[in-house]
Amino acid sequence: MLKSSLTIMKVAGIPIRIHVSFLIILPFFSWVIATNIGQIARMAAIDPGNVALNPLIIGFILAVMLFISVTFHEISHSLVAQKKGIKINSITLMLLGGVAQMDDDLQNPKDEALMAAAGPLFSLIFGGLLLFIIRPMITGFNADIRLMVYYLGYINIFLAIFNLLPAFPSDGGRILRSLIALKTSHYKATKIATAIGKAFALLMGFYGFLYGQIILMLIAFFIYIGASQEKETSLMRDVFGPFKVKDLMTEKVITVREDITISELLDKMLKEKHSGYPVVDSEGNLSGCVTLEDIKDISEQSQELKSVEEVMACNIISVHPEEDLFEAFKKMSRSEIGRLMVIEDGELIGILTRSDIMKAHQLKIVKDKKENK
Ligand SMILES: [Zn+2]
Repeated sequence: MLKSSLTIMKVAGIPIRIHVSFLIILPFFSWVIATNIGQIARMAAIDPGNVALNPLIIGFILAVMLFISVTFHEISHSLVAQKKGIKINSITLMLLGGVAQMDDDLQNPKDEALMAAAGPLFSLIFGGLLLFIIRPMITGFNADIRLMVYYLGYINIFLAIFNLLPAFPSDGGRILRSLIALKTSHYKATKIATAIGKAFALLMGFYGFLYGQIILMLIAFFIYIGASQEKETSLMRDVFGPFKVKDLMTEKVITVREDITISELLDKMLKEKHSGYPVVDSEGNLSGCVTLEDIKDISEQSQELKSVEEVMACNIISVHPEEDLFEAFKKMSRSEIGRLMVIEDGELIGILTRSDIMKAHQLKIVKDKKENK
């Protein structure tokens, strides 16, 4: 989903990207603002008759300013994260605001609360500055400028309040989780915060449904999905946390040579009940891996003729034995590959499969029982 985005600039070394959905949402926002210009003018105590610019132009300028505000909101989060030693890979602006891609979550509750608060704090200060300091200074300016300053201030304060709602994984939800995490474990805190977030999303969705507010229903849906994903990640971290790759890898690696035929490979698979093998060349160097998936569509005649070398999938994803299991798990899910090669000093010393990783769950239960005794 995040692949379909374009880097537009860099701030403090962080690439700021825009998602393709942005190209749809920007004209849409401009149009929504344009159709409400009269109402916005009345809210700002401006006579709508004095607004000179085309409403669509005002809408477009405000929509762009709104996204710039969202960008600064995200940058505020990121700068605090960077100060706490978390690497921010990029910020992507999309349909419902922005997403900062981080290498890792903050584990220290106080740091997390600080980071979560930084974004809304920026929005609040910026909105307050526009509404309460700049606006009184420009009373003599033309209606268009006064209207834009008012609306930008208003929307930034709205952004701050909206993000502070305790609807995990929103900023407010993260602050709530860190407060709970001060008293209990990170995992339990996530569980409580996500439950509150989900309840909030359901309520919001129900309200949106009752009053025909489609945007509200959409936001509620995203909050619900976000809360579920966050809980999953936190559970994984809790289960995988104590283990390293070397704890769960299969050490006795059976390899196949790249010059054997597919039918020989099939016989071996049936006999050894393995669905995949690392492949080595005639010198014994790792050259790829082959799985049942790679050969399942090959006709029976070709099985006798084709060699493993011709069909093997060559992209090997490797991990170091000392790497955290959670990192290996993330690598595996990102690459959508079922097995990772464990390589130390250029040598294949093991293999880590999805089922090896899943053993962590049982081991964790045993470990916890032992520690609680
Ligand atoms: Zn935020």
